Amino acid sequence: MSRSLDQFVDGKLKALEQRNLRRVLAETERVGPIKVMRGGRRLISFSCNDYLNLSQHPEIKRAAIAATERYGVGAGASRLVTGNHPLFKTLEEKLARLKGAEAACVFGSGYLANTGIIPALVGADDMVAVDELSHACIFAGSRLTKAALHVFRHNDIGHLREILATHRARHPRALIVTDGVFSMDGDLAPIAALADAADAFDAWLMTDDAHGIGVIGGGRGSSFVDGGAHRVPLQMGTLSKAIGGYGGYLCAGRSVIDLIRTRSRTFIYSTGLPPASVAAAIAAIELIERDPDYAALPLAKARAFTRALGLPEAQSPIVPIVLGGETRTLAASRLLEDEGFLVIAIRPPTVPAGTARLRVTFTAAHDDADVRRLADVIRARILTEAA
Ligand SMILES: *Cc1c(COP(=O)(O)O)cnc(C)c1O
Repeated sequence: MSRSLDQFVDGKLKALEQRNLRRVLAETERVGPIKVMRGGRRLISFSCNDYLNLSQHPEIKRAAIAATERYGVGAGASRLVTGNHPLFKTLEEKLARLKGAEAACVFGSGYLANTGIIPALVGADDMVAVDELSHACIFAGSRLTKAALHVFRHNDIGHLREILATHRARHPRALIVTDGVFSMDGDLAPIAALADAADAFDAWLMTDDAHGIGVIGGGRGSSFVDGGAHRVPLQMGTLSKAIGGYGGYLCAGRSVIDLIRTRSRTFIYSTGLPPASVAAAIAAIELIERDPDYAALPLAKARAFTRALGLPEAQSPIVPIVLGGETRTLAASRLLEDEGFLVIAIRPPTVPAGTARLRVTFTAAHDDADVRRLADVIRARILTEAA
């Protein structure tokens, strides 16, 4: 049909393939809380973000099925039109309470949340400061604003303060955005220090707690670690990881939420979440509130793993094993697959060049013996070979 299109695409794919950067989908069937079927093999997954295994939880499945029976499979329209089914109010109240905020707004996904929230709050005259290792959708949202984008070195408060000292005065508004738990590194943002810097320069602090909700801070996320309730006026996150289903959210003050509902384009021009997803999230949050000990399990398993390998103590259920090159990392992932483990290789551009890694994630239902065996295989067969 279009020769130039085909030529362009084929050339692009070949170039990516040569750099080991072409991606392909592997059909993966979840079987139970931690096992998957992939390529005809049954593997123990250390690659799901389903930290509390709630995507497979009988009580949560029942809640989703009941909501489908009652309200149907889809919302039917944007929430501002006719898509605002009654379950949204319950979910938003529960999210706000969990996060210690006045109100919450649920989006179609975490990606839609970040690309909707950031442009609704800052514009062309303003500035955004983003931690360099933040999730891709934070950068996507920031670029949609036309605001001046400043990237600060990972968790480097000194660098952030330098940027604010140099540029803040020239802009009416400044937003600081960071992952609360870094998705590919598993470390935490220094929330208290970020909040202090935000206060000092009258900037607004926004955290993306995709990997924090449900698993750290007693299940309440990165603003609540060490028993503290740090001052984060904009707490964004997703319902697709520890919460087990799908959807995104922002927890914030009442008027911020009112503005977001009025001005956020990914909220206005996108259909509301299906009732089943909303009902599942409600049931998941109830479970987390009821059983904080269960919510603490993924981090405990991650810490057993880092102790076994002599790695720095895990701060979240995500543990990276940085191997450097794409080829070495892919080989390590294949080796683990032969041992019955699914541990995905993460490559650029998801992570910076030269830092390809195995990203190991731990969930509540992982067996302690499997965690030990994974550590043994990694120590004996992957970390011993020369980089
Ligand atoms: C997964 C993730 C998102 C995107 O959330 P979805 O609901 O999957 O779209 C956003 N931010 C971070 C840090 C994530 O890890």
